[in-house]
Amino acid sequence: MTTKRELGAMIDRDREEIIDFLCRFVRAPSPNPPGDTREATAVITAFLDRHGLPWRTVAPVLEWPNVLGTFSCAREGKHLVLNGHIDVFPVDETEAWAHAPWSGAIADGKIWGRGVTDMKAGTAAMIMTYRYLHALRAELAGKLTLTCVSDEETFGPFGARWLVANEPEVLGDCVLNGEPSSPFTIRFGEKAPLWLRFTVRTPGAHGAYTHLSESATITAARLICDLQAITGDAVAPPGRIGEALAEGAEAADRAMGAGAADTVQRYTLNIGTIQGGLKVNMIPGSCSFEADFRLPVGGRKEELLSRIASVLARYPSVTMEELNFTEPAACDPFHEMVGFMRENAKAVSGIEPRPILSLGGSDARLWRQRGIPAFIYGPHPRGMGQRDENVDIEEYLHVVKVHVLSAFDYLGGAR
Ligand SMILES: [Zn+2]
Repeated sequence: MTTKRELGAMIDRDREEIIDFLCRFVRAPSPNPPGDTREATAVITAFLDRHGLPWRTVAPVLEWPNVLGTFSCAREGKHLVLNGHIDVFPVDETEAWAHAPWSGAIADGKIWGRGVTDMKAGTAAMIMTYRYLHALRAELAGKLTLTCVSDEETFGPFGARWLVANEPEVLGDCVLNGEPSSPFTIRFGEKAPLWLRFTVRTPGAHGAYTHLSESATITAARLICDLQAITGDAVAPPGRIGEALAEGAEAADRAMGAGAADTVQRYTLNIGTIQGGLKVNMIPGSCSFEADFRLPVGGRKEELLSRIASVLARYPSVTMEELNFTEPAACDPFHEMVGFMRENAKAVSGIEPRPILSLGGSDARLWRQRGIPAFIYGPHPRGMGQRDENVDIEEYLHVVKVHVLSAFDYLGGAR
């Protein structure tokens, strides 16, 4: 029987190959939009073939393939699902990067490039987990399924959402995901976005004739302040989540910036876009803005919408439409998988990650919404969506080891 120490030594032995895989993965551009991931997918499938691992693609859209692989172990047991995405944020071509965004360059102990943090390092950790556990399947129990999806960055319907709806084998007993979290936190839930578009319409007029028309832009400005005033309150989380959040407050601030722990249980509002007016000397007849509300775990959409409706009652010139909503979802912060991850992170690098809720959204919600516990553990979100995105090589290897060892524990590997 293989011990965890031996498994860790196998990963150390393959260090260069694991690093090289991530560099090559980054060098295969997969910006979304437009979201064509075929080149990056080919890097994954070539690796899976080289190691004799089972896989197939599920491609509701030809340019956005999802890689799906599954195998059973020697004994009956639980079914673990690994999830990561292949598509990444686009690059602003006017920005100067220290290392070209698709270079996958190694410098200063880091791997550089667009998407290396969000989330090619984490997806690589999923692929490595699939690879090592497949080699040990004769010693393990249960089943392991790998899902590498396209169409995550735009919350699109053809990635994980498609798999969860159409491929029953992705619905296991537990999910691991390598989205950026920082090695200090394990994410067991996330806030829910509610995106709304507000449009103000007024007659408009010459800019000096302010007695003739209400201004759409000034009305929008007032409305935004009133909407902000109905957010900000905190919600008590259900069950034992509050206990975990209290323990993880410091880690949450460290991973997501000072103030994160305080924000996570509050309703928040961001006005992402605003458009109005044609010319400086005209009173605008229309103004529209997109509002990104985030609901905390335990928060309710109906509650928020009724507050918004009472504000809108004072604004007869405004209409509202819903653009997107996903239910807040969290799973058990004291689940056995969390225990395995905490124990393995400590054994590998002396780090003691805390379970926390995430501010941003991820595909993990799709499983949580179906009652399947899903946990995120990945590198620090360094340069995510910005220039000079990079991952520390030792941190990447730490994440790989924690996932491999925790999956090994979950599928009944020798202790
Ligand atoms: Zn991501």
